[in-house]
Amino acid sequence: MKRFLVPLLAAFLSTAGWSASAADWATVSSPAPGATQSIGSYTAGCLQGAQALPLDGPGYEAIRISRNRYWGQPVMVDYIQTLASKVRNAGQPHLYIGDLGQPRGGPAPSGHASHQIGLDADIWFERQPGARRAPADREHPRLRSLVKADDTGIDDTVYTPAHATLLQAAAEMPNVDRIFVNKFIKERICQTATGNRAWLNKLVVWLGHDAHFHVRLRCPPGNPQCQPQAGYYSDDGCGEPLYSWFVRPPVTVPPPGTVQKPYRPKLPAACTAVLNAP
Ligand SMILES: [Zn+2]
Repeated sequence: MKRFLVPLLAAFLSTAGWSASAADWATVSSPAPGATQSIGSYTAGCLQGAQALPLDGPGYEAIRISRNRYWGQPVMVDYIQTLASKVRNAGQPHLYIGDLGQPRGGPAPSGHASHQIGLDADIWFERQPGARRAPADREHPRLRSLVKADDTGIDDTVYTPAHATLLQAAAEMPNVDRIFVNKFIKERICQTATGNRAWLNKLVVWLGHDAHFHVRLRCPPGNPQCQPQAGYYSDDGCGEPLYSWFVRPPVTVPPPGTVQKPYRPKLPAACTAVLNAP
């Protein structure tokens, strides 16, 4: 009886997308074949036909490559290459590009709840300071925060107006849904941005995001299973939505040794085929 049940149970579990853990998604090293499709939401989905971001390009280099999270939608690869070219043409130092997504998207065992459908990317505020290095030497670059270590405000020994210029260029590119930044960064830009401030609408406050910003692109056309995210601010977001981040109680960090439940979202059923494809 047991010999019969075990394969039956295994067959059942393999057809249920939610049974796959983040570790399962992280161990697949190549993209799923087929046309590029984002399936599900930014925090519970997967990616078929992912494209790799070339590890070097004009104006940027990918870092922490051993994580194998440099996969995304072609529209995201194009976004990074175009932004990096603008940065380069402006005579600025290279960008450090961090995580996009895993080869088939899906939940990652560390670092993020999102980045699951090939439409999220982390770009660091720190710039590549000198000559390019070999990919193996890019695992532990200096990545300074723009916020003081005691979380009381912007660290003006690190922050410069060039950071705001970079965010403006990133926010004004086509297809941007939102960009996550720390509350102190948003506050500083609210206080200092001049001219057309429409791009401030795209800067959405979130925890962390003080050493990097997180670009989220909209679902591209031709991806009917991609779930868009609801909107956020109706204006520049410099009023009540920003203020609310300064009055909310501080986030309590669980004491050391606390066993955290791994994030295990329920993925669309179609993601099972993406995970299991040869
Ligand atoms: Zn991110």
